[in-house]
Amino acid sequence: MLMEDYKTLDFDISPVGMSRLEGVDFSNLAFGKVFSDHMFVMDYADGEWKRGEISSYGPMTFSPAMMSLHYGQAIFEGMKAFRQQDGGVAMFRPGENIKRFNFSAKRMGMPEVPEDIFFQALVEMLKLDSGWVPNAPDSALYIRPFMFATESHVGVRPSQEYRFCIFTCPVGAYYTKAVKVKVELHYTRAAMGGTGAAKAAGNYAGSLFPTELAKSEGYDQILWTDAATHTAVEECGTMNVAFVLNGKMVVPQTSDTVLAGITRASAVQLMRHHGVEVEERKVTVQELIDASAEGRLTEAFGLGTAATVSPICTLGLPNGDWDLPEMSTWEVAPKVKALLDGVRYGTAEDSFGWNIPV
Ligand SMILES: *Cc1c(COP(=O)(O)O)cnc(C)c1O
Repeated sequence: MLMEDYKTLDFDISPVGMSRLEGVDFSNLAFGKVFSDHMFVMDYADGEWKRGEISSYGPMTFSPAMMSLHYGQAIFEGMKAFRQQDGGVAMFRPGENIKRFNFSAKRMGMPEVPEDIFFQALVEMLKLDSGWVPNAPDSALYIRPFMFATESHVGVRPSQEYRFCIFTCPVGAYYTKAVKVKVELHYTRAAMGGTGAAKAAGNYAGSLFPTELAKSEGYDQILWTDAATHTAVEECGTMNVAFVLNGKMVVPQTSDTVLAGITRASAVQLMRHHGVEVEERKVTVQELIDASAEGRLTEAFGLGTAATVSPICTLGLPNGDWDLPEMSTWEVAPKVKALLDGVRYGTAEDSFGWNIPV
């Protein structure tokens, strides 16, 4: 995928007549509630992608028999574009999101979206809506590509029609209060051979009830464990998770049941690049119990595009709640955040060419 000067686009562009930008209060952005002017829509039918279009963000009309509503073929991505220190706009590792989107599509029996069209659509959307990219600290333009089955048909089989869309939302600093997480020993987010490694809508639906239960017990999120034995720690809510154990940053390895987060991969790569040792391996609940009792568990945090680094203040372990040390003593999580932000906002060297300017 190369950024070229596209003479001919593979889709149409119908810019809005009047932008809604003026009416937006950028000092008070609720996450995922404010939508930029444009969206991209491209339909799949008769075995091929039709010509897409960027046009005004707005509602759509569908049949009640639309297959995604009944059989759940629906996937999405979450990525961000950042206002650079020099005033420009850059996407962070969009190629990784495009690849993961098509991985999810394949797993859910859906057609892959041609990478070049996907990329072009992102670039043109961001050019049109560049004014929507906030420039306050910790803010960004959140980008939501998604695809769902649109054929009207009752009966279980892959849909023969799909819609691929992209919209964007300006977002402010994410809710960064440290979270209390419950180590979940009954419910399961993902099983071996299942769909946990895909960003499939149904994975999130299945996590809602257990998360509400955890909330009623005084927690904010769930620390998921493996489905077969509930002994290995996998993910925290909808984020990857990292610990500082014996002074070392440790992250559970990715698998069928641990989604390969781009924030996680970038954090690991950047830390190693800066000479910090990182272990990618299995982390067990017992290890967390022992390490916390012996003062060897000093930090725990989630890693994901929405919040970047989400500190955990309390672990609901099977033997009771355990509070992590005061965040003012943490060293690893702040370093991860600073390194990631440096690259994403263009204030540090982008050693790996992760920023794609638009
Ligand atoms: C999206 C997601 C992540 C984080 O992925 P990023 O690419 O870092 O945003 C982690 N776990 C789950 C279950 C996710 O859906």
